[in-house]
Amino acid sequence: MATQRILDFLATRRPNGPCLVVDLDVVRDNFRAFEKALPDSKIYYAVKANPAPEILRLLASMGSSFDTASVAEVEMAMDAGAPADRISFGNTIKKERDILRAYELGIRLFAVDCVEEVEKIARAAPGSRVFCRVLTDGEGAEWPLSRKFGCVPAMAVDVLRHAKALGLDAYGVSFHVGSQQCDLSAWDRALGDAKRVFETLAEEGIVLKMVNMGGGFPTRYLKDVPAAQAYGQAIFAALRKHFGNRIPETIIEPGRGMVGNAGVIKSEVVLISKKADNDNVRWVYLDIGKFGGLAETMDEAIRYPIVTAHDGSETAPCVLAGPTCDSADVLYEKTPYPLPLSLTIGDDVLIEGTGAYTTTYSAVAFNGFEPLRSYVI
Ligand SMILES: *Cc1c(COP(=O)(O)O)cnc(C)c1O
Repeated sequence: MATQRILDFLATRRPNGPCLVVDLDVVRDNFRAFEKALPDSKIYYAVKANPAPEILRLLASMGSSFDTASVAEVEMAMDAGAPADRISFGNTIKKERDILRAYELGIRLFAVDCVEEVEKIARAAPGSRVFCRVLTDGEGAEWPLSRKFGCVPAMAVDVLRHAKALGLDAYGVSFHVGSQQCDLSAWDRALGDAKRVFETLAEEGIVLKMVNMGGGFPTRYLKDVPAAQAYGQAIFAALRKHFGNRIPETIIEPGRGMVGNAGVIKSEVVLISKKADNDNVRWVYLDIGKFGGLAETMDEAIRYPIVTAHDGSETAPCVLAGPTCDSADVLYEKTPYPLPLSLTIGDDVLIEGTGAYTTTYSAVAFNGFEPLRSYVI
């Protein structure tokens, strides 16, 4: 949603070119909502969603921890004021020298999903805590993170056993139910798998302590999504069901749910045209596209709300495309986007819910277009 602060900023500053404006008040509210929804879980903000220093500083000052995927992200979290013991290196795919560098910076919590990665960590970060990521089916998610990360639960047992044998602290299990997950029962299935890994290892005397329940908390795009409170209740019920009165330490790693609704992209209509005189679908070209930050429109997975000054007047379906010379730079075509017939070249439009996964996805200078500018207010 474009908050009044964002609208005022755009009206007074009138920034030229496409840009993202993020309202920190919304990020603050989101953090508090997560704290309230899951009071016993530690919040590790997924830095990749939006690493703007102002966002990281705000969250660090509110007591957030951080999930990072590279040494550069570890350093960004530290520069924002987070101590090393509030940072995890959550990428399952790491160079050994990056593990070593993170270890030198004080990081002691690492993700793994195979024995090969465990061996790197045992060498480069001896004695650290490791958690093993298990696969989830990603069902119900609009942006699934499926097969690339994690292993089957039976293999997680071997991975954590191996970690323990190499002197690491076999600390727990992690999963990610898929991003923009609107099925509240997704956590229940994954927690059932986690519990089985806990049980099997307990029989061997290896006592795990933590479940990292990942991200997946949604942002409202065109459809309503359940509130943080509903997620909290569903997740807590699932923890009770599987772990009874011995609920382990838990972590959540919201990315999209922390910043998605805090940002709005201002874009300009560059061209409106047709491919034939009798076409009834107009092509609307914006000054931002897949390579300017809207990469999540890939396969039309994420459908952003678009606000124009003509809303309320008659609409007709449009193909929506970006400005670059690549035919892949089409945002919505399979499902055309309804836009007002009175929309004209030169109009500004607001693309809402774009606080997450936009600035970091924008190309450096494809066709000479500069990377997406961002203002955090
Ligand atoms: C990307 C990512 C997240 C954040 O996911 P969202 O769906 O944006 O909340 C959390 N944890 C890990 C390990 C990730 O890779």
